[in-house]
Amino acid sequence: MHRQAKSLQLRHLDAGSCNGCEQELTALTSRYYDMQQFGLDLVASPRHADALVVTGPVTDTMKEPLRKTWNAVPRPKRLVAFGDCAAGCGVFQEAYASHGGVAAAFEAPDLVIPGCPPQPADVLKQIRRLQTGDEKPSAPNP
Ligand code: SF4
Repeated sequence: MHRQAKSLQLRHLDAGSCNGCEQELTALTSRYYDMQQFGLDLVASPRHADALVVTGPVTDTMKEPLRKTWNAVPRPKRLVAFGDCAAGCGVFQEAYASHGGVAAAFEAPDLVIPGCPPQPADVLKQIRRLQTGDEKPSAPNP
C-alpha cells in the first residue's frame, strides 16, 4: 500500500561547497521541477526544518556551524548529504581544510545523494523518499 507523503521542509547548509550543488538544489524551486507541488520547500531557519541538507566536504570553519545548525532542527529530523563532496568522495575530499564529508566530520546521514553535482530530477526522486520513510542511504560514487 502506498503511504501518504507528508510535507518536508529543508534547511540547506553550505559546508564548503563550490556552489555547483547549490545551483542544482535551487533548480528544484524553479517552475520546471516545482518541488513545492510535492510539499517540499527550502526554509531559512533550521527551527522550521524537517531535514538538514548539507553540501560540500565540511571544511574546518563549517564543522561547528554544522553542529549548531543540526542541533537547531527539531526532532524528528533527517540529515542529507547532497553531492559527492558531502558524501565523502568528492574532489575536495583530500583538501587541507576538508573533513572528508558529512559522515567523517559529523555523523552518518540518513540519505546520501551522489553526483557532482547531483541532477535535480534524481534529487527530487530521492528527497521524496524521506517523505514516506522509504529512504535507504545510497552508496556514494566510487
Ligand atoms: S559535489 Fe561537485 S558540485 Fe558539489 S560541491 Fe563538490 S565539487 Fe562542487
